Amino acid sequence: MELASAPPKSPPCRLQRSFSVEPNLRQSSLFNFYQPKSGIPKRDRTSKVKPKPSDLSKDGQSPSFSYPRALMKTKSLPANSSARVYKCPLYKRIPGTDMTVDAFSYGSIDGCSSYFLTHFHSDHYTGLGRHFKHPIYCSKITANLVKKRLGVNQRFVVPLPMRTPVTLRGVEVTLLDANHCPGSVMFLFVLPDGQVILHTGDFRASADMETYPELRGNCIDVLYLDTTYMNPRYCFPKQCDVIRYVVRIASEAVRKEPKTLIVCGTYSIGKERVFLALAKALGFKIGLAKEKMALLSCLEDPEMNSIASHDFLSCQIHVLPMGHLSLKKLDMHLSEYKSKFNSLLAFKPTGWTYSSRAKNLRDIKPSTKRGVTIYGVPYSEHSSYDELRQFVRFLRPGRIVPTVNVKSTNEMQKTFREWLT
Ligand SMILES: [Zn+2]
Repeated sequence: MELASAPPKSPPCRLQRSFSVEPNLRQSSLFNFYQPKSGIPKRDRTSKVKPKPSDLSKDGQSPSFSYPRALMKTKSLPANSSARVYKCPLYKRIPGTDMTVDAFSYGSIDGCSSYFLTHFHSDHYTGLGRHFKHPIYCSKITANLVKKRLGVNQRFVVPLPMRTPVTLRGVEVTLLDANHCPGSVMFLFVLPDGQVILHTGDFRASADMETYPELRGNCIDVLYLDTTYMNPRYCFPKQCDVIRYVVRIASEAVRKEPKTLIVCGTYSIGKERVFLALAKALGFKIGLAKEKMALLSCLEDPEMNSIASHDFLSCQIHVLPMGHLSLKKLDMHLSEYKSKFNSLLAFKPTGWTYSSRAKNLRDIKPSTKRGVTIYGVPYSEHSSYDELRQFVRFLRPGRIVPTVNVKSTNEMQKTFREWLT
């Protein structure tokens, strides 16, 4: 599947507003940076399209956050000489800076004082907990989750605004939507020497991203790329097509048998669009475990909160952990609610269930046993192979650093070269 390749008609622009950090030698300057200044791009990245002055002032998002007072009072973090230093792999470091991305399982990293977190999935925040005492930069939603679910002291958690450049000791950082899970972001770093680095975190590339002024107006020197599905066998349909398919199958099932319990698999965070679409289309409430409810309350989504409940009996959509979506476990689940439901229809939305055998949604074969039916649907929150190729061709970065399946880096580099020639 190819993404739309036609460039958007609206004129490109880059940064609308910038914030700077003035170095403070007495305390950590990391804690002292929310000071707005006029935002004119420092570097003319003319190999794409030059920003127009008129573009720079429009859509200027005012920072909605307040100055983090707790951080102001914090003294500089001393180097913890007794802490064991683990080896942080190079692909988690931003070269030429004291910054790392998604690197929390290496203890106190030598030379790192700014820890960036792309999103709240455990393979990215492992190692983060209430003991962590370094500044963590992330989106507002991820900050909520880090504080509430991991117990990290709020003085160390620094939510950054979306699409608003922030300058941190000379390094300009902009958060862009990664289209992965709620709160997930890509980090765009512009270093003092003008080098531009994009770290995608986990992401699903989309045609929308080609309209981001921050990406259209910059040459990316280094791209840290989520290469989870860097294999041609992973060729997913668009998310909206999968959602439409799921809604259609569920609607037909409920029309035939109104007492059908709909189940949707989920991770701690992820797949929300699928069960939200089901709830809206069918007019059903969503039953969630208390733990999942607590997670969703961090997403600041009033619509979700209004239709979610931990009283499963009152809901016709049950959201369950992905690991519970087997015929045996769902049969037991249906038995538990047999006073209300006669059958169960489950959707397992993950890219891993998709293979080259099923090229089309129509080819999906559900598993069925007694009153339980399971559809494995190719709803991926990572880019397909074709989307990765299109994204790389759009950006034409100077260098690509794979962040997933890194043992195959040499092989991937060969493919990147092919894509760019
Ligand atoms: Zn993830």
